[in-house]
Amino acid sequence: MTDLFPPAAVTRFPVDGSDVTLPIRRVYCIGRNYAAHAVEMGHDPDKEPPFFFQKNPDNVTFGDFPYPVETSDVHHEVELVVALSKGGTNIPVETALDHVFGYAVGLDMTRRDLQGEAKKLGRPWEIGKAVEKSAPCSPLVPADRIGHPASGAIWLKVNGEMRQEGDLNQMLWKVPEMISILSRYFTLQPGDVIMTGTPAGVGPVVKGDVMQAHVEGVGDLVVTVV
Ligand code: MN
Repeated sequence: MTDLFPPAAVTRFPVDGSDVTLPIRRVYCIGRNYAAHAVEMGHDPDKEPPFFFQKNPDNVTFGDFPYPVETSDVHHEVELVVALSKGGTNIPVETALDHVFGYAVGLDMTRRDLQGEAKKLGRPWEIGKAVEKSAPCSPLVPADRIGHPASGAIWLKVNGEMRQEGDLNQMLWKVPEMISILSRYFTLQPGDVIMTGTPAGVGPVVKGDVMQAHVEGVGDLVVTVV
């Protein structure tokens, strides 16, 4: 048997200070994981059961962010990104962090107008979320170097002006809980990536904007909208 065409290239996370890469398998994202962001999106800040959506692995990118087609309202969402090097099902919260290879700073860029329409109509979110090159990320930093950040500043500036500001300790669902819950519903595998939600202050960008994102203990990410 012969492939009709070569299989699509795998997107790989570079690893900071190393030649090693992490081939990406799936990208899971959690919605409304910081109370203040839930409120700004018009929802109850109380801790509700988590819900997840997905981006495509090849939405992850390590360069500029091309302004997407078919939208006039693209929002930034700064997030802590978790990459797994071990999979499993029914992973207990207590051992969930053993599955983590490392962390990155990432952006969950969103066609907010299309997402809003989808929400209103009870439709899936892919058209707003699984957008080409919509997940600009920094290289991964291994957990064996920085540990597992559970608190510390997370912020995003646009053209030098502070837009989003929060602390990792404001996450409603913590990283070990997210891994454990996802592993009940999906068979997690090495290379799976989790985007852990965004603090308050999301807003639009336009071509030419420079987004500077920071997660304390993980690093910085600078992305230009082109
Ligand atoms: Mn998000």
